[in-house]
Amino acid sequence: MNNKNKARCERCGKRLKKGGNNYRLECHIVSDFDGYLDASATKKSWQNIAKEIEQSGLTEKELEEQVYFKLEQKLCLDCRSEVINFLKGKS
Ligand SMILES: [Zn+2]
Repeated sequence: MNNKNKARCERCGKRLKKGGNNYRLECHIVSDFDGYLDASATKKSWQNIAKEIEQSGLTEKELEEQVYFKLEQKLCLDCRSEVINFLKGKS
């Protein structure tokens, strides 16, 4: 049996039925700039900033996700409820 074309919840793996209670999660978390720059940050040279980035040990993707994170997933009804409860602080 070929299951490759069967839609599955991308969070728990449960099969999503055609015409069922299926959902698509679209999540964006964006860094919020409040207009304040630390004075010491403005005095740093690009070389020092590049050195700090190198020393952080973070990958390019991890650094990018600190500024902009996007997640899109198909969800089943149970996972939808869990995600909403988590986002509302009820989990
Ligand atoms: Zn699920």
